[in-house]
Amino acid sequence: MKIRKISSDSTFKKQGQTNNPISQLLFNLNPRFTFENFVVGPGNKLAYAAAQAVAKGKNPYYNPLFLYASVGLGKSHLAMAICNAKAKFSQNHKILSISAEIFLEELMSSIKKKDTSFFKERYRNNCDILFIDDVHFFAKKEFTQLELRRTIDYLISRGKQIIFTSLYPPEHIKDMGEDLKSRLGSGLVVQIDPLDYETRKKILIAKARAKNGLIPEDVIDFVAKSEISNVRCLEGILNNLFARAELMNSPIDLTMAREEVCKVVTQRERKGYITIDSIKECVSDFFKIKVEALASKSRKKEISLPRQIAMYLCRKYTEKSLEEIAEAFNKRHSSVIHSIQVIKEHLRRKDKIGRQVNFILFKLEGKIVNNH
Ligand code: ADP
Ligand code: MG
Repeated sequence: MKIRKISSDSTFKKQGQTNNPISQLLFNLNPRFTFENFVVGPGNKLAYAAAQAVAKGKNPYYNPLFLYASVGLGKSHLAMAICNAKAKFSQNHKILSISAEIFLEELMSSIKKKDTSFFKERYRNNCDILFIDDVHFFAKKEFTQLELRRTIDYLISRGKQIIFTSLYPPEHIKDMGEDLKSRLGSGLVVQIDPLDYETRKKILIAKARAKNGLIPEDVIDFVAKSEISNVRCLEGILNNLFARAELMNSPIDLTMAREEVCKVVTQRERKGYITIDSIKECVSDFFKIKVEALASKSRKKEISLPRQIAMYLCRKYTEKSLEEIAEAFNKRHSSVIHSIQVIKEHLRRKDKIGRQVNFILFKLEGKIVNNH
């Protein structure tokens, strides 16, 4: 009776796949997250092998399996691939796949109801495989940490498999008790490293194929070169490219890709990457003049125009003050203000100089994107 009552709690319904024929306990499990859909490369091959070994029940010492990596590198995907594989091959397995947040919510709600029997029943006796996503979330939550510690002990002593994911390795999770940290790290701890260019490329091709979409090779190559490691962001870029191509009824091209990648590389990161020196270099390279000439006393047009453009770009892309920019070009700060106005006017008129500024901008952005 008690089980039924708590099962109708809104948090359970929200997460539960109640129509799942295999088990009522498959929560929050994404059916897309399978081993078949996971692209393997140097950064994740160890984690992939460990996940497969756990799915096959190969080694009792891989318990708990603890996967950690920064955001979007496939932690949840791999952990859920284990659960999906287990669910597929052994219908009797009771699998509980849950976010750390839901574990905490359920614990709190059972305490509020002054009845923890359902909680214990669910997490101890009704569970052959427990997957808790993002356990770093338990930092500072001492009471939940204590309950998790007991749950781990209970399940491990009965040979039940536990899987955790986290942004950090167990020893580096802040504000977490030593007892719990040592339990989290007592099985197999594996990191997923940022993905290399080849793997990013394979992922982009696989995701594009899954959407039955056509993407030119140079676009795939450009996006893969952007060094964006977060696969969720790569998927977002692909989705936006497909959507734009459909809405505008035009094929996906490099310009479109550059814009989408630039959106991901945030303004703050751009500012961090572009320095006065890199702007000077880019501008002098474009006008085929010496870098030092930009800070010289020369008033010749072939020097003063590049200098004005460089000062404008420094204002736009760096967080330097007018005084700092003036100093870098041996000018007064009123001269920086004047230069900015002049270049803005060229951009507004879209004349030859305006187009040149845009071209340099494009080159600078390309550099940011490719070196990010
Ligand atoms: P994390 O939990 O590490 O933040 P996820 O596992 O949620 O990341 O992955 C984010 C997205 O990227 C998901 O859609 C997932 O399918 C996809 N993904 C991540 N790594 C890979 C990979 N190696 N191959 C295919 N898809 C991946
Ligand atoms: Mg995740």
